[in-house]
Amino acid sequence: MLIVPRADRVGGLMGDESEHNLTSDGATPAAAPARPSQARELARELTGDLPCSRCGYNLRGLSIRSGCSECGLPVRTTILVLVDPRADELVPLSSPRLTAWGMIAWIGGALGCAAAVLALRMGDLLDAQFSVGLPMSDIAWAGLAMLGLSAVGSCVIVRPHASIPISRRVLTTIGVLLYVPLLALFHRIHLVVDMQDPMPYVNPGSLAGDRVVCRLAFAAVAVLLVLALRPGARHLAARSFIFRTGLIDRQSMYGIVAAFAVTLAGDGLRLAHVSGPRLSEYVSLGGITLIALGSFLLAVGIFAAFTDVLRLRRVLIYEGIGLAQILETNASRARRAGSDA
Ligand SMILES: [Zn+2]
Repeated sequence: MLIVPRADRVGGLMGDESEHNLTSDGATPAAAPARPSQARELARELTGDLPCSRCGYNLRGLSIRSGCSECGLPVRTTILVLVDPRADELVPLSSPRLTAWGMIAWIGGALGCAAAVLALRMGDLLDAQFSVGLPMSDIAWAGLAMLGLSAVGSCVIVRPHASIPISRRVLTTIGVLLYVPLLALFHRIHLVVDMQDPMPYVNPGSLAGDRVVCRLAFAAVAVLLVLALRPGARHLAARSFIFRTGLIDRQSMYGIVAAFAVTLAGDGLRLAHVSGPRLSEYVSLGGITLIALGSFLLAVGIFAAFTDVLRLRRVLIYEGIGLAQILETNASRARRAGSDA
């Protein structure tokens, strides 16, 4: 039996995209075979359980050309969103729920960590402008814990099912291990340096150079980590028909790498300012601007990746629904009718 929860956001966005991809005669070019001779062989009604991708109503028994009895979403839209022609070829996940929640912890932890860092810098502004003191140490520890959660979650990417090539498992393991230096650098920046020299951007203290070097190392390690985990994560995303066929392909991982590159450039300028000959204050200001821009892009990239893994959760837990599970061909129906008679 197949139970799929209500498709709140998924139904909306994917439904819209899917409908744009339907041809004028109502055929579903991607989910159903496009050739008319094959399309005619498809039964007119759904013979297996298929939950409406918008409201979850079971569409079993409805014509593939009709709409959902509850919300009116065309049945063919749900087929395009949920039915995967290659579902039967996918290697079963060893633990679908663990994999799905691991992916969410992986990106959700990164998102929480980014939110904590944002809160720390907002805390500086509140302190400088309004003398409002946030519990900076607690926030930094929360950020470290979220980064740890991200590390634990990333472990599911190493071997989600049997027959993952050894080369990719090695690469993914390297990516997971890179969390060790990443956690150490986060601790050094936010719980050692910043506790000693608060407000790093408002009034840099004696450890300013140390902090910039740690930030450069953090961004470099984070870029390597994302690049090492990306193939494994993309492999899991490829279990989703919609991701695999490029209906949704936001390349949020490369966006995250690009955002880190912008912050790297900003920290580079700050390093030149801190350690080099007395450069203009504008160099430092330019560096801070690039860091702020990079941090913003980073937050957007991680948030986009987070919405992707939330979508992927359903695909990972409930697996793809194969065409054979919801439709019988005229040939097989004739055979069944023959055996019934
Ligand atoms: Zn519906």
